[in-house]
Parts: sequence; C-alpha cells; structure tokens
Amino acid sequence: MKTSESEIIHIQQHAAEKYVNDIYETIKQRNPNENEFLQAVKEILDSLLPVFMKHPKYMENGILERITEPERLIIFRVPWVDDNGKVRVNRGFRVQFNSSIGPYKGGLRFHPTVNASIIKFLGFEQIFKNALTGLPIGGGKGGSDFDPKGKSDGEIMRFCQSFMTELCNYIGPDVDVPAGDIGVSAREIGYLFGQYKRIRGGYQAGVITGKGLAYGGSLTRKEATGYGTVYFVEEMLNNSGLTFKGSTVVVSGSGNVSIYAIEKAAQLGATVVACSDSNGYIYDPLGINLSTVKRLKEVERKRIKEYINVHPHAKYVEGCSNIWAIPCDIALPCATQNEIDINSAKLLIENGVKAIGEGANMPSTLEAIELFLQQKVLFGPGKAVNAGGVAVSALEMSQNSMRLSWTFEEVDEKLKEIMKNIYQKSVKCSEEFGHPNNLVVGANIAGFLTVAEAMLAHGII
Ligand code: NDP
Repeated sequence: MKTSESEIIHIQQHAAEKYVNDIYETIKQRNPNENEFLQAVKEILDSLLPVFMKHPKYMENGILERITEPERLIIFRVPWVDDNGKVRVNRGFRVQFNSSIGPYKGGLRFHPTVNASIIKFLGFEQIFKNALTGLPIGGGKGGSDFDPKGKSDGEIMRFCQSFMTELCNYIGPDVDVPAGDIGVSAREIGYLFGQYKRIRGGYQAGVITGKGLAYGGSLTRKEATGYGTVYFVEEMLNNSGLTFKGSTVVVSGSGNVSIYAIEKAAQLGATVVACSDSNGYIYDPLGINLSTVKRLKEVERKRIKEYINVHPHAKYVEGCSNIWAIPCDIALPCATQNEIDINSAKLLIENGVKAIGEGANMPSTLEAIELFLQQKVLFGPGKAVNAGGVAVSALEMSQNSMRLSWTFEEVDEKLKEIMKNIYQKSVKCSEEFGHPNNLVVGANIAGFLTVAEAMLAHGII
C-alpha cells in the first residue's frame, strides 16, 4: 500500500520530535540545575523541528549533540585585594562554545548572579546571534560573580588585572575575542586590555573589543547594540505599516543598551516615557531626559531614582519589574534575562502593546514569548534584535587588522545594513520553514543553518 503525503509528513514529524526530545533529555541530565541554559536550549531545539523534517541530513553527524555541548568551559579563581587590604576571591568563567565559523566572540559579564548556567546560556545564544550577523565570528561568553557596584576605581582595576592574568592564557585575536556586557564597559575593558598587553608584551588590539577610541576602539561601538535594536524594530514595524514616529516606548534598564536604544528611538520621533535600574523605574510622561540619565549612569554611576531630583514632575517607583505595567506601543526590554514573565506579558498586552524588541539577552520567558506570538504582537527575539553590538565588535576587529578607522557614519551605515539583513534573513527562514511572522523560529533557523553547514564541512570534531 502506498504511503500518502500526509502520512509521510506525520512520520517525519514524529522522527524529528523524538530526535529532539531524546537530545533534550540527555542535556537535562548532563546539566542539572542549569535552568537558564536549559531554557535557551529548549527554545532553539523547538524551533529547529521544521529544519529536521525538511532536511533530515541535519539529524546525522551529531550536529545537535555537538552544538549544545561547549567546546570548552574554563573556570578559574580570581583573587584580589580590596581597599582595606582584605583578600577577596571571585570566580571567573569563559565558555568557548563553538568556533565553526570564526574565533569565539562574546562579552564578559561582571554581576553577582553570574554562574556556569548564565554563562552557558549566553554563550549558546551567541553562536546563533553571531552567525546571523553574516560575519566570521564563533560563539563564546565569560564573566565573573564579582559585583562592580560600590567598588572604588582601584578595586575595579585590581580585579580586572587579576581576572585577565588568568584569562589571557585562553584568548587571542584569532582564538577568542571578549568584549563588554553587564557590569563591563569602557573602564573595565581598558584595564583588561592594559593587563593583556603587559603580559603578552605586544600590541594585539584585536584581542578585545569595546575599546576606547584612543587605543583601537571603533566609533559607533558604544551605541551599536541600542541603535541596532531600534533599527531592527523599525524594520519590523514598517513591515506592518507602523513606525517609531509618534509612538510611546518603555525601555527597561539604564545601562549601555538602554541608553542608546532610548537615544535612537527618540531620534526617530518616539516618546520614551520610562527606564529603570535594578532598584526601580522612573516614569516621565514628557519623555525621558537622556542627558540626565547619561550623567547619572555613565559619569556619576548613581541610582536612577536621582532623576526625580532634577525632574520633579517625573515619578520614581521602587521595584523594576513593575515597569511593564506602563501603557506603551513598543516595549524594549534592555536590562537582563527573564525580566518579562507571563504576568508582565499579560499586562503589556492588556495595555495595547504592538511590538516587543529584545535589546537584552533572553529577557522574556518561554511562556511570555508564546503569549506574544499567540496574540500577534510583533516580537523581535534578542538573538536577532541585539546582534548589532557584536556586529560592530567584529567591525572593530576588521579595523584593527587593517590598522585604520572608519568614521561614525560609515560604521553606522554598515550597522543599519546588517540589522536590515538580519531582519530579512529571519523573515525569509520563518516563511520557508512554515512559520510566517515567527521571528523566533526564523532567526534560530537562519543562525543554525550557517553554523551547521560549517560543522558538516569540518567533519566530526
Ligand atoms: P549594563 O551593565 O550597561 O546595564 C544593565 C542595566 O540593566 C542596568 O540598568 C542594570 O541596573 C540593569 N540590570 C542588570 N541586572 C539586572 C537585574 N538582575 N534586574 C534588574 N535590572 C538589572 O549592561 P548592558 O546594557 O551592556 O546589557 C544589558 C543587556 O543587554 C544584557 O542582557 C546583555 O547581555 C545584553 N547585551 C548587551 C550588549 C552590549 O553590547 N552591551 C550586546 C548584546 C546584548 P543596575 O545598574 O541597578 O544593576
């Protein structure tokens, strides 16, 4: 008896689901208690089902088994001495997840919540994000449970020097190129680069990105993640006949990504009415005054609540998660992972949100994403939306190799083009694999196909 087409599809689907489920069970057993890592893996595995149904070759050669296991995870002791002469010890991490398409590339996070699960989730996501940029960079990430808050400049410098003294054994311009992330900005990058240079005894500018302009940094790198987020979301909005112009926007966080997302959204004619830090949020119906936020956060390193001392008409509310109760057209979560849970998602939808753009990494829980997609809210996933930062980091590496510097406008133009391409690639893959308008599936598949092709070419390594 001949098997019908629908029966074949059913058999293929069953085979793909069993393959993915079996692998996920093994990953769960091998990485117990690593909830963030498992969440990131689950999202990718679920969205790859249509690939395995359409191209069973990707179920061979252990692509999925290999791509979910880091090539290397380095954990090290970071001893340093505080201003009172007391010895402190933190833990350092670097995950070198996948180097199929280029040297490992991904930021360093200094935050008390950092652990192996957080670093592995970030490194895993980075593989697909970096592939999406179309640039030759593999996936990596690192950091420490060190808390920079409240530390003196001297303490930050001594910590960074100790951290780099160990990390320098594993990185290099063609091997692994770190950058900033939460808690690591220009100041920390300067100390890290200085120590690398001192130990290695040569000027290898391409070993780290996010450098200051005086010593090999790229114009537009500081702005890249925030601007890129807004460029991506503007593409997504335009495709549905919407725009930033005239819309109300809420941005969480008030760090590097948030500040430049606010700046670009305002330049495009939006009113950004709220932003936050880990203590609480400010609401300014007239539109956030960005010079004040920049001064408080980039220069004085103060808390966001100080904003109301300068702008008394604004309101400060304790507790940062409540920010999603503010009605807005566009929400840009730019602070940290899992900041939008199912309850925040429901509030946003009830209040009429039209689009979400994830400037942070994995800021929405799996349940929240499912609800946004179900309710037809335009949803731009972090891997695609915030890829502008790493893309300009790769452009910084190019400029370092060529020993020249592009202008702000040149880099900004390239960034715009890259974000547009990422959007188009994600849309194309979502349609080609039967999930139109689902950019989560589209972005994951587009990133995966590039890396998988390279892994197939390299053999079983
Ligand atoms: P910053 O350290 O510059 O800023 C982080 C902001 O988020 C701060 O306002 C911080 O508040 C807040 N925040 C941090 N942790 C928490 C928490 N647990 N709960 C609530 N608020 C929190 O980091 P970035 O702007 O660089 O990074 C923000 C996000 O964007 C991260 O998810 C990062 O991985 C992602 N990202 C960053 C890129 C970059 O180029 N910088 C590139 C791609 C993604 P407080 O000061 O009180 O801690």
